[in-house]
Amino acid sequence: MSDPDYFPAAHRVGILTTEPLGRVLDYLAPETGCALGDFVEVPLGPRRVLGVVWGPGEGAFDRAKLRPVTRVLDVAPMRDELRTFLGRAADYTLTPLDAMLRLATRSPGLGEAPGHLRVYRRGSQTPGRLTEAREKVLAVLDDYGGAAFQLGELAALAGVTTSVVKGLVKTGAVTEEDAPRDLPYPMLDPDRPGKPLAPDQETAAEALRGAVRSGRYGTTLLKGVTGSGKTEVYLEAVAECLRQRRQALVLLPEIALTADFLTRVEARFGAQPGEWHSGVTQTERRRLWRMAGEGGVGLVVGARSALFLPYRDLGLVVVDEEHDTSYKQEDGVLYNARDMAVLRAAGCDAQVVLASATPSLETWVNAESGKYARLDLTTRFGEAEMPEMRAIDMRSETLAPGRWISPTLQAAITERIERGEQSLLFLNRRGYAPVTVCRACGHQIGCDHCDARMVEHRFQKRLVCHQCGETKPIPTVCPSCGVEGRLAPVGPGVERLAEEVAAVFPEARVAVLSSDLFGSARALKARIAEIGRGEADIIIGTQLVAKGHNFPLLTLVGVIDADLGLQGSDLRAAERTFQLMRQVAGRAGRSERKGVAMLQTWQPDHPVIRAILSGDEEAFWREEAAQRQAAGVPPFGRLAGIILSSPDLQAVFDLGTDLARRTGPLTAIGAQVFGPAPAPIARVRGRHRVRLLVKAPRGVALQAALAAWVAQVRRPANLRLAIDIDPQSFY
Ligand code: ADP
Ligand code: ZN
Repeated sequence: MSDPDYFPAAHRVGILTTEPLGRVLDYLAPETGCALGDFVEVPLGPRRVLGVVWGPGEGAFDRAKLRPVTRVLDVAPMRDELRTFLGRAADYTLTPLDAMLRLATRSPGLGEAPGHLRVYRRGSQTPGRLTEAREKVLAVLDDYGGAAFQLGELAALAGVTTSVVKGLVKTGAVTEEDAPRDLPYPMLDPDRPGKPLAPDQETAAEALRGAVRSGRYGTTLLKGVTGSGKTEVYLEAVAECLRQRRQALVLLPEIALTADFLTRVEARFGAQPGEWHSGVTQTERRRLWRMAGEGGVGLVVGARSALFLPYRDLGLVVVDEEHDTSYKQEDGVLYNARDMAVLRAAGCDAQVVLASATPSLETWVNAESGKYARLDLTTRFGEAEMPEMRAIDMRSETLAPGRWISPTLQAAITERIERGEQSLLFLNRRGYAPVTVCRACGHQIGCDHCDARMVEHRFQKRLVCHQCGETKPIPTVCPSCGVEGRLAPVGPGVERLAEEVAAVFPEARVAVLSSDLFGSARALKARIAEIGRGEADIIIGTQLVAKGHNFPLLTLVGVIDADLGLQGSDLRAAERTFQLMRQVAGRAGRSERKGVAMLQTWQPDHPVIRAILSGDEEAFWREEAAQRQAAGVPPFGRLAGIILSSPDLQAVFDLGTDLARRTGPLTAIGAQVFGPAPAPIARVRGRHRVRLLVKAPRGVALQAALAAWVAQVRRPANLRLAIDIDPQSFY
């Protein structure tokens, strides 16, 4: 009997390529034959492109015109599991399959054979003559701490020519060697003793070990306040997975958190795991991609795209801080890594652990309904307690204009400085001031390409558009009325807050943590480590600091504007504010010293602010769930956002109106269409944006209806149509 998954020479095969063609193409199997899932190179016009054997050929195309597959690549074939997953993910997100394949093949030099590779690392010498170009190279090497680079990549990252690197090799400051490529990762030892667990940790760990041992799919919400030991507990699930000789993946929401995590993994298992994110060198990415497929790596730690690696046998996916918005990819393929983790795990008999102090409402509801298991860690580990939560009622505080720190908060900070403890001031706004206004004519400086105001960044001495990244010098003359010297910043950003702190606490050591102030993830990591050792009295931070950093001396968190997130009309405004405030507050008092969180608010009676203060989380979620259910919105109904964009304003509205008229396929499943309406940010990078929103009951075939709906209209070439299933943001 012939093997249906094997195609002998000259048989027709269907190849999915990474090119945006929207379909599988027919080729002839090569001399050697090929098998389902093989990675291959095929001719496409004058080029050779990467593809995967996806199935038998369709047969519609004239056989005489078919070209043979050029060669089968020397990498582990793509497993059925991953092919099925990519297909399901494409269907779910309404993304072409080729785009999913591109996500799954982000490995540099995939077609190149293993063997040896010339690599460059930091050497022991310091060069006698240090030019600016040479310094740049050494800075990159230091930034990546010991990593090996290929010549071209190192030169490109440093922004210098390859001859600069070669010059440094001669001085001994950089070493050059031939290293074997794609070595397996060191084995992690699951049986090294972990930390002795507290009773509730042990109960949770044992439940997770059992789940992993079952060898079946399941999802568990692991809920516990920051510092309760969730990481310690899910590392036990990882240990069990390694004992089963299966692979584990831990997703983290922020690259800056990986360093700390790698250290903990090494302490627990005796070696470092594979690392996958944008800050990893190409050599390392290639190695990890291959080793995932060959089983040469037991644990991968990474960003959301690590979900698309070709694991040989994935047994566990942990999504840490599962509620984090960074798990939703907002351009290209619009997917939520948390949901995709569940989808992938379901197809490969793996367990999912969703860890959070403040789960998303979706996850909370799934746990309530029994679809997910739930484990709770109710106390902080050891001595640490949850911080006390207090509101500062801004209506009864007196503040000078241009000042944002209330006298009450100021007094609390002073106390901390005297005791040698740290304070964190939280303000979720990068830059100096969100608005620059002309005092003569009232004009606000906006971006030339977007419908957004430019944000002053004083450290960079520029105005920056937070939508498109466009910058311009801070003008002295108003571009609207021409009056000089009357442009003024309005409202606070972290940089302006830093100025106020310097004026009020001239002696204090201040650290500003904002994603735009650090050249590299490693520089940020280094700064965070310094702060952890106590090298700052006052930390000023954006959202960045809310995520998992451990500052033992921190005992006070001051939220400058607790009302900030409540202003939008966003479906998730309440949920987001609640999560963010709880999380930021959780930064305080992580060791023996008790912490306090103070929220500056103008509306202390707002239900969300009251829920945050009372700490009754279950009551908050029940209330929020009831409201969503009444409104028929997620997770009790379904939403899809449609974003049309084009340089031509008329064209986007015409198409939007056309879509709004032909709702047949959607009304057939009981869905409603809202819009078209200008998007809240109506212009980005010179493209006008119009949105429609589709609201559907749960349990209907929404994707199929959406596909049928948009297929009815013709779209001009420069008009983009993006469909966002389960949208998280509505800008
Ligand atoms: P979470 O992930 O819930 O924020 P962590 O797992 O990071 O909590 O634990 C918080 C701190 O407490 C960490 O420094 C961790 O090492 C420590 N810790 C947690 N559980 C234990 C334990 N059983 N024994 C010793 N230290 C622990
Ligand atoms: Zn812009």
